[in-house]
Amino acid sequence: MKLIDGKATAAAIKAEIAETVRTIIDQGGHQPHLVAILVGHDGGSETYVANKVKACAECGFKSTLIRFEDDVEETTLLQEIDRLNKDKDVDGFIVQLPLPRHINEQRIIEAIDYRKDVDGFHPVNAGRMMVGLPCFLPATPKGIFELLRRYQISTSGKHCVIIGRSNIVGKPMSMLMLQKAFGDSTVTICHSHTEHLKDICRQADILIAATGQPASVTADMIKPGATVIDVGTTRLPDASRKSGFRLQGDVNFEQVAPLCSYITPVPGGVGPMTICMLMLNTLEAAQNRIADQSSNPSSQNN
Ligand code: NDP
Repeated sequence: MKLIDGKATAAAIKAEIAETVRTIIDQGGHQPHLVAILVGHDGGSETYVANKVKACAECGFKSTLIRFEDDVEETTLLQEIDRLNKDKDVDGFIVQLPLPRHINEQRIIEAIDYRKDVDGFHPVNAGRMMVGLPCFLPATPKGIFELLRRYQISTSGKHCVIIGRSNIVGKPMSMLMLQKAFGDSTVTICHSHTEHLKDICRQADILIAATGQPASVTADMIKPGATVIDVGTTRLPDASRKSGFRLQGDVNFEQVAPLCSYITPVPGGVGPMTICMLMLNTLEAAQNRIADQSSNPSSQNN
């Protein structure tokens, strides 16, 4: 069994990005600029945004954090998004989710110019991914794909089973694994209504668990020699930790790891790759890759 080290891989990619940024700036180019909008003071969101700002510094990006209180009007947020869409100094921006209940998240996502949508959540990016056009890929699936690629885990012709069908993880992951000249896998997507889940999982060469159901993937669901990717991050109370919690993946690691050829740990697997891919998307935005390649769709994986 080989452990897939997301932390080390993410560090290596961030160093590569920083090197590219140094070259851009040395040549008189524009420093990539990511803006994050944070509404309210949710602890989890504060941590995620702080980590994104930190990653920007590591990559040599400029970053700006714009804060609004919980009771901000939707129209105020939409006006700010309109301003950022037009601001030539801003390459990409994100609105940290979740938003307070009185704000329509989908309306906010759709207000973002898809060429600055470095989270890859805009329906235009989702649609472009579906048909294989240049687009911003959502960070978590992109990070998983990058891990598979860097660990030289063959995906072509393999049976990939994905548990979870959310718009940010399961569905886009399935598209990447399916895409011609990308994953080239045979893909099965499972969810909470799937019958015979264990039997299906046992057929997987690559099993990707993204349910948020702690330790629910057990040894009897694994084909010996499979690659197992654990996306789940559930906070479980743990009085022995300073934070008061520990992160638990969807996979029962102790049971499953001995059966696998490769497996991601939690923490230190998929998690660190997610922010790193946001940085990569921002670099691509700064380099205008999406816009430049729009006129030449055959340049990507169509
Ligand atoms: P969602 O809650 O949006 O989706 C969960 C999916 O799992 C749904 O499709 C649901 O099915 C399915 N599901 C739930 N229970 C079962 C079950 N018992 N059997 C089969 N399928 C089930 O979650 P997300 O996709 O946003 O996130 C999934 C996990 O990944 C969470 O733990 C989250 O914290 C983590 N995550 C980690 C990231 C990282 O960077 N490491 C990034 C993003 C998420 P149905 O559609 O039928 O409801």
